[in-house]
Parts: sequence; C-alpha cells; structure tokens
Amino acid sequence: MDHLPPAARSALMSRIRGKNTTPEIVVRKLVHRMGGRFRLHVRKLAGTPDIVLTRRRKIILVHGCFWHHHLGCKRASLPKTRQNFWRRKIEGNTQRDTANTLKLRNAGWKVLVVWECQTRKPTILVGKVSRFLAK
Ligand SMILES: [Zn+2]
Repeated sequence: MDHLPPAARSALMSRIRGKNTTPEIVVRKLVHRMGGRFRLHVRKLAGTPDIVLTRRRKIILVHGCFWHHHLGCKRASLPKTRQNFWRRKIEGNTQRDTANTLKLRNAGWKVLVVWECQTRKPTILVGKVSRFLAK
C-alpha cells in the first residue's frame, strides 16, 4: 500500500469502501437529473453493471482509471514497485471488462463506459451521458 501512487491509493480505498464510489455517484445523479431511471449493480448481468436502464436497454459502467486501465490516462500508470504483480492484476481486470461488455452487447444492451477522470470534467461528462441517453 505504501508504494502506491496517489491515484492508485484513492482507487483502492474507493474499492474497499465498496461499490458506491464518488465517480459512480456523480454519474448516477446526472443520469437521474436527465430523467433516466435505473437499477444499480444488477447481479444477474455480466460483471454486475453499475447503472442499468432496464427499459431503455442501456448500461453505464463507471470505471476507475487505475483498476480498469484507462489508456493514456495519467491515473492509470502502474506503481514503480511490483510492476509484474500490478500488470497481471490490471490485465486480468481489463480482459474481464472486455468479455463482460461483449456479453452485454450480444444480449442487446447498449453500453457506455464513463471513466473516473471524466467525472471530474462536468462539460465532457454531461455531453457524453446525454448523447448516450438520446441514442
Ligand atoms: Zn482516466
């Protein structure tokens, strides 16, 4: 833990706190404000997706940049120590993400991934979510 960069540390802490992370809550509030009605953490769907708009058949996944490896994002860089351990772990996560998203899409769901860092940029976030809901 001591060797983790701040982004990884906060991501880890959010995970320990459970599912209801700050980025997820930001997205939920926004979707709700836009009139989207949803269920949370639906276990019977692949990967227990965060936000499920059942009637619209849409799913929003809120991904932490470190754990889900947001490509090109500075919050996704690996800690300096135990790099093999982290690489394996993160690769496992991203492979699981890809497989789950494929399963959901094959079952007819539209899937949007919102990255943690995007939840800090309201303009980008609002644009992204409203485009997705309007589809
Ligand atoms: Zn990011």
